[in-house]
Amino acid sequence: MNLAELNSGEKGVIINVKGYGSFRKRIMEMGFVKGQLVEVVKKRPFHGPAEYNVMGYHVSLRPSEAYLIDVITQEKAAEMPEQPFEGIIDKERLKISIISEGKNISVAFVGNPNCGKTSLFNFVSGAREHVGNYSGVTIEAKHNTYSYYGYNFNLVDLPGTYSLTAYTPEELYVRKHIFHNNPDIVVNVIDASNLERNLYLTSQLIDMDIKVVIALNMYDDLENSGAVLEIEKLSRLLGIPIIPTVATKGKGIPDLFSKIIDVYENRDPNVRHIHINYGKEVEQSIRIIREQIKQDKHFMVAMSPRFLAIKLLEQDSHAIRFVSKHQTSKEVLKTAYKEISRIEELLHEKGEAVITDAKYGFISGALKETLKPGKSRRWIHTNAIDKVLTHHFFGMPLFFTFMFLMFFATFQLGSYPMAWIDAGVGILNQFIKASLPQGMFNDLITDGIINGIGSVLVFLPNILILFLFISFMEDTGYMARAAFMMDKIMHKIGLHGRSFIPLIMGFGCNVPAIMATRTIRNRNDRLLTILIIPFMSCSARLPIYILFIGAFFPNNPTLVLIGMYLTGILLAVITAHFFNKTLFKSKEAPFVMELPPYRLPSTKSIVKHMWDKSAQYLQKVGGVILIAVIIIWALGYFPQNTKSSSELDSNLVKINLELNQTVDELQKNRLVIQMNEIQMEKKREQLENSYLGRIGHFIEPAIRPLGFEWRTGIALLSGIAAKEVVVSTIGVLLQSDNGKGTDDNRLVMRLREIKHDHGAAFGQPVFTPVTALAFLLFVLIYFPCIGVVSAIAKESGRWRWALFMIGYTTTAAWLVAFLVNQIGSRLF
Ligand code: GDP
Ligand code: MG
Repeated sequence: MNLAELNSGEKGVIINVKGYGSFRKRIMEMGFVKGQLVEVVKKRPFHGPAEYNVMGYHVSLRPSEAYLIDVITQEKAAEMPEQPFEGIIDKERLKISIISEGKNISVAFVGNPNCGKTSLFNFVSGAREHVGNYSGVTIEAKHNTYSYYGYNFNLVDLPGTYSLTAYTPEELYVRKHIFHNNPDIVVNVIDASNLERNLYLTSQLIDMDIKVVIALNMYDDLENSGAVLEIEKLSRLLGIPIIPTVATKGKGIPDLFSKIIDVYENRDPNVRHIHINYGKEVEQSIRIIREQIKQDKHFMVAMSPRFLAIKLLEQDSHAIRFVSKHQTSKEVLKTAYKEISRIEELLHEKGEAVITDAKYGFISGALKETLKPGKSRRWIHTNAIDKVLTHHFFGMPLFFTFMFLMFFATFQLGSYPMAWIDAGVGILNQFIKASLPQGMFNDLITDGIINGIGSVLVFLPNILILFLFISFMEDTGYMARAAFMMDKIMHKIGLHGRSFIPLIMGFGCNVPAIMATRTIRNRNDRLLTILIIPFMSCSARLPIYILFIGAFFPNNPTLVLIGMYLTGILLAVITAHFFNKTLFKSKEAPFVMELPPYRLPSTKSIVKHMWDKSAQYLQKVGGVILIAVIIIWALGYFPQNTKSSSELDSNLVKINLELNQTVDELQKNRLVIQMNEIQMEKKREQLENSYLGRIGHFIEPAIRPLGFEWRTGIALLSGIAAKEVVVSTIGVLLQSDNGKGTDDNRLVMRLREIKHDHGAAFGQPVFTPVTALAFLLFVLIYFPCIGVVSAIAKESGRWRWALFMIGYTTTAAWLVAFLVNQIGSRLF
């Protein structure tokens, strides 16, 4: 608890004083130090300042200040475990208690993308967060705990940022975390092979005047390159302890945590607060603004006045907003603006630019004194590889070759295990069907659950292979290049280069494609990409195309098939344009696309990524698909009794008797076929009468203008669970044994023959080439499946995006099918 939580008359023992340098110093000088007893003399209502008694002095603190002082109650301090106790609570006793309470240290990992924060975090906490040679992989903060030397560490892995300005959501997030959560120690993770760029963030942490320990990560790379860094000297220059680490191997981590403890306990000699010198003019402005800020004591608590002054000179929007909340904001802002124009006039440059330049000047100065650069072999390699892979002539063809390989492997290699799983599920289904007593329970287990699980599992091989490639591309650094190469083209439709891979993946399965948008850092770009992925025709829609094209466009099947895919792409482009103009008008500042050096990832890490992603697919999506399949099954299964079913049943019994009596093989065959037909007729009747059938009839008026009737409606409805279900539903509706494999030709014939069974169009064929085309387009455009809906909800964090996607895809599908049917039926 903190001091602000104590009530009048209560006493507490201080265990920690948070806050930044000068506030902290001031408050500690007043006597608020670890182990001291404070008494709340008087609390005022409405969050007024309260009066405290510490060391016999009466001191008044605002709640915002008291909030930064951690205390434990005196009772708690007294409740100490087995310790010889004589008489009153003495200082010793308090100290012991404080040690045990104060042993919780909150640590936040801050650093550039790709510097190894997550690797460090994972190694320390045993977590399995995603690590990748590609920025933007960490989007949210990850929490975990770790114990070392009797201390408990609450660790937070924050998103990677280059800076703490407020340009990107990540930067804002990290800044807010540092200010609001007040971590005891910030561990600034630095890529040792890229010191200059990484230290820029450090320079901002220095301004903030907080407790920092630097983890000089990728120290192996630095050593391999032959560079020599005088760590101790750099540490003294920065006023921050530096510990070399190799996160992937766990080297240096115990040292790092020992150092964190030292800094936390204020016993590291290198820790000091330095001021980066921004030059005469800027320093003068800082001084003037700072004096103005210091007039209002409210400012003193949340951040260092110097930091705030610097941020104001940079015209940082969040600093301005922060200032506006205070009473004296007008004067402070006026002073700041005056100083900004003074600097601009004198130096002909914006305050922000002057400060950035000074920071880099500071960094290069510090490095000049401490670093003897070696030849970075990594970058020499990288440049050589880049010459080939991003060659302005061969770069693209190479990329497409790689893409082709990826899809070829995913679908061609994947089709074998897919078939095995399919067959395995079939065999299991048959076996259980035969071994359990007939009835509803049997049907639920086999047709509902086993089929449901099967329909999820069957895609696992594809997903594994696809993610194997993606992980490899991410971890080597090639993904960043691919995004870079595609950026120009993607910009034309208002997207980012990074949207390309998810879109391409969408042709395989939309679900992992939506998950792959995590690599897009800008939230609007990401949402936009997610929203158009459903137009990428996934592989599950392919069987439907094949069936209908075979039935109605036998003369030029390839052309129609390619046309379907192109229509999807065209729609995606149009939609992207449209949403860009309406929904996502306010784009955030464009972000640099960094190109990390190529690294050869370890097999272990690639396999782990592949598996992690696939497990996510199974957990997140599998559950939803399974439930949906079971619901669709149940809707089609109930109610069981139909009017004519008893009649058909008695027919069945009759034929069965006949079958047992005849010896003639031909006659036997004829009877078996007859029996099958009755079985199918029974199934068809049951399906028409089922809830699903009733829903099909119910929605018929809505799809009539598209030329569809109730059975088409049912097929489309069943496709909500998964597109694979459409063909098998049609199979049942058209009384063909099954939609898969062997009886395809029979199904094609039946598709052509099926007639309207009621209404104005009675007796006319249900499908003509025109309605078949309308149907195919509807299948292409309306949302892929419930798995995608759930993935969108999960990835965007909001169900309303998922509902929105259902809405506009279905509307678009309806409109397109409507136009095709109306125009087509008039023309032909
Ligand atoms: P983050 O973006 O800061 O979270 O960085 P990651 O932890 O995702 O790591 C980026 C890449 O650097 C991964 O490929 C890691 O395997 C690799 N990496 C991390 N730490 C080290 C290190 O100390 N040495 C080397 N050679 N590679 C590292
Ligand atoms: Mg990370």
